[in-house]
Amino acid sequence: MAQQAFNSAGQKPVIYSPSYDLTVEVSNAEHPVDTRKSSNVFNELVRRGLIAAGQEMAPQRLNDSDLAAVHTPAHLERLHDPVSLAKIFQVPAVGRMAMTDIDQEILDPMRYQAGGSVMAGEAALEHGWSVNLGGGYHHASSDHGHGFCAIADVTLAVQALRAKHPEIKNVMIIDLDAHQGDGYARDFKDDPSVFIVDVYARNLFPKDEEAQERINVGQPMALGANDAEYLPVIERVLSDADKDFTPDFIFYIAGTDILDGDPLGHASVSRQGVMERDEMVFKYAQEKEIPIAMLFGGGYQPNNAALIADSIENLDRTFGLLRPKAAPKPSI
Ligand SMILES: [Zn+2]
Repeated sequence: MAQQAFNSAGQKPVIYSPSYDLTVEVSNAEHPVDTRKSSNVFNELVRRGLIAAGQEMAPQRLNDSDLAAVHTPAHLERLHDPVSLAKIFQVPAVGRMAMTDIDQEILDPMRYQAGGSVMAGEAALEHGWSVNLGGGYHHASSDHGHGFCAIADVTLAVQALRAKHPEIKNVMIIDLDAHQGDGYARDFKDDPSVFIVDVYARNLFPKDEEAQERINVGQPMALGANDAEYLPVIERVLSDADKDFTPDFIFYIAGTDILDGDPLGHASVSRQGVMERDEMVFKYAQEKEIPIAMLFGGGYQPNNAALIADSIENLDRTFGLLRPKAAPKPSI
C-alpha cells in the first residue's frame, strides 16, 4: 500500500483531492455523471466554513501493486484495456479512446478516490468518523467490474484496515445507494465477519441474486419509494442489524441516487429524506461509538453536490463533527 501521509495537526477527516474529478466529457445520453461532484462538494464545504482548504486529508493514487491486494491479475489487465473498460463503464466511446487518455481522464481519478476510501478507514479510527468525497464503487469485485465501477474500493478499504489493525474484526457495510451492492458482497461471500446491510431497488441493475443471498439485513424496494415508504425501512434495518451484529467498524455507502428525479435511481426520496437517512446511520454509529467511514456511491443529478454538503453540514450540526465543540459553560 502506498504510504499515506498523516499529519493530524489541524486536519479534519474529510478525504479529498482535486485529482478526484473526472476530466472526460461524458455524454449524458451514454451515462449520466457529474464529473466534478467531489470538488463541488468540497468547495461548498469550504464556502460554508465547515473546513478550510488545506485541512482536508489528501490520499495517494493507488497503483497496480496496491490494487493487487484485492484484484486478480486478469482484472488488472482489464484496467489497461480500452475495450474492457468500455464494458465496465458501459460507455462505448471509451473503447475508442487512447489508454493514456483513459488513465488521465477517468481511471486515475478513480485510483485516487479508491485511495481515499482506504484512507477513510484510518481517518475514522483516529477521529471516530470520516467522509471520503468519492468512492463507493460497490459493483466492482476482485475479478469483475461493471456499472461504472472498475476498482473494488470497499473491499480494498476493509482489507487494508484489517491488515493494519488486527483488533478490527467485525465490519458492517451499510449500503443505502439505490442499487444493490453486488461487488463487495461477492468478495466477502465466505467471510461472516463482514455484515452486509443493503436497501436497494429490486428491479434495478444489477439484480444479482447470488450476491443478494449474502445480504444479512436488507430490503428490496419497489421503484419510486418516497420518504414515508423509505425512512421507516432504514430505521428497521438499522435496528435489526444492531440486534444481530456488533461491528468494530462501519463503512457507509451513502449513494444519493435515491433522490427524487435521479435518472438511474428511480426513487422519490426528498432532500430532507436523504439527510434524515444519513443522520439515522450516523446516530446509530455515534450512540454505539463505532467508527464510521462514509463513502459517496452513486447520484447523478447536478444538485447532488449541494445536497451532500447539506447532509454533511446537518451531521456536523447534529453530532458536532467538524466545528470545534463549544466549551461547556463554567458552573458557578
Ligand atoms: Zn447507485
